[in-house]
Amino acid sequence: MIALDAAEPSLVERWMAEGRLPNLARIRERGSYGRLSSSAEWMAGSPWPTFHTGTDPGEHAHYHFVQWRKEDLNIVRPSPEWLPMPTFWREAGRSGRRVLAIDVPSAYGPQAFDGIEVYGWCNTDLLAEPASYPPEVFAQARRRYGSSKMPDERYSMERPEALLRLRDDLIQWTDRTGELARDLMDAEDWDLCLVNLTAPHRGGHKLWDTTAVRGEVSSEARRELGHALLDVYTACDRVVGRLFDSADPDAVLVFSLHGMGPNVSRVPILSEMLDRVLAGRSESGASPGLLHRLRATLPNEWRAAVKGLLPTKVQDQLTVYWRLGGKDLGALRAFPLVADLQGYIRINVAGREPEGIIEPGPEYDRLCEELASSLATFVDADSGESIVAEVVRSHRLYPEGTRVADLPDLIVKWANTPASSHRRIVSPEHGAIDWPSPGGHPDGRSGNHRGEGFLLAGGPSVPSGAPLNGARVVDLAPTVYSMLGLPARPEWIGSELSIARASGPSPGEEQG
Ligand SMILES: [Zn+2]
Repeated sequence: MIALDAAEPSLVERWMAEGRLPNLARIRERGSYGRLSSSAEWMAGSPWPTFHTGTDPGEHAHYHFVQWRKEDLNIVRPSPEWLPMPTFWREAGRSGRRVLAIDVPSAYGPQAFDGIEVYGWCNTDLLAEPASYPPEVFAQARRRYGSSKMPDERYSMERPEALLRLRDDLIQWTDRTGELARDLMDAEDWDLCLVNLTAPHRGGHKLWDTTAVRGEVSSEARRELGHALLDVYTACDRVVGRLFDSADPDAVLVFSLHGMGPNVSRVPILSEMLDRVLAGRSESGASPGLLHRLRATLPNEWRAAVKGLLPTKVQDQLTVYWRLGGKDLGALRAFPLVADLQGYIRINVAGREPEGIIEPGPEYDRLCEELASSLATFVDADSGESIVAEVVRSHRLYPEGTRVADLPDLIVKWANTPASSHRRIVSPEHGAIDWPSPGGHPDGRSGNHRGEGFLLAGGPSVPSGAPLNGARVVDLAPTVYSMLGLPARPEWIGSELSIARASGPSPGEEQG
């Protein structure tokens, strides 16, 4: 299994057809390809936990790297004792299969199992410090291949030179991850290898287009930036080709769990929108908002530098403070959570939150309705187009979910238009809010997630053209278990895909 993290299916399809991703194209030629629907449609931070656990966010409740924890009255990093997250590939390593895993994101730190795991080699979506199982592998890898540590993302617009340097780094780190993966794969006979290439994810956020570039862009830099993301995808394609040829597997699954497109996030102004709605007030003039003022007092580069020196826990609390403006969350009827794409709103429910204010039942329903209809009144001042596509309640998305109480109550899905085009947002009832960086995106992301990924399956045991229509992220765990001859776990909600039915031994059958 090779993940091209957050690679956008429409780009993969176009570039395969144009001959720019020749290795993916040749695997597809004798294999199968389809799009993969994902829980990222509603929660951008959820698809990896959905992949790991074979369940949806209503069960695993992971949606961001820092989340509201009612017991703490605070936004904190998930932990295993609070939100357990069994991972199917580690479980396979405890069920008699030999497993190699490299850089799988959004899982807890590595644990003892029958296999090797390298955690946090080049990716940054981590819930623990970089490490490996067995522990010595990480240091050995660093010595042998050089550091591939990806720096924390800068949430600010950047100069063209910095973005081109990022492209070059992403290509180099992809090559190093490829070398590490190939050498570990060659070293023994594995049942399952799972390798994640992180570069398309960071590359997609930062190199999607030029709306996150600060300052003048020369025509030369514009030309270079115009194919920077393609360069990153091409590097991934080369690594896929090398791993496929050298491992010569029965089956290979190349996939992404969510995609990428122009950044539509209006999260930078959600806090201010919500303040206006809850206060029932209309500001006469345009207000840049408390959050924006706070952020403006300390330049982003400084914030990144300061944060880098602090322990993770303190860094997380600074993130919460800077993103939400130091509000006393427990005192509000509803408050925004830290988010990167969809807006997340938590209602302060009596009996659920320690200092809950809103009674469950009719009062809760009324507030949800009021927030949804009020947020929908905000439009772009120039075009008059609404910026909110939909506000949904988590418990309507996952009515059976046993952990819905750990999710945001409301999810704000934004209009599918680039947020960078705004100059000012207005609501007839709640006044005007200036967009913090007209022509660009204040968080420095020109690209942001889309809810669909892809699955490309090939290799001798995968039938050519097996249908993958309607495939979902939750189908991957049962599919791989079927290929490994392991029985599906009872909590999984997905089904094995036809690529497994046509190939591997059926569950329970002896392996040859
Ligand atoms: Zn992302």
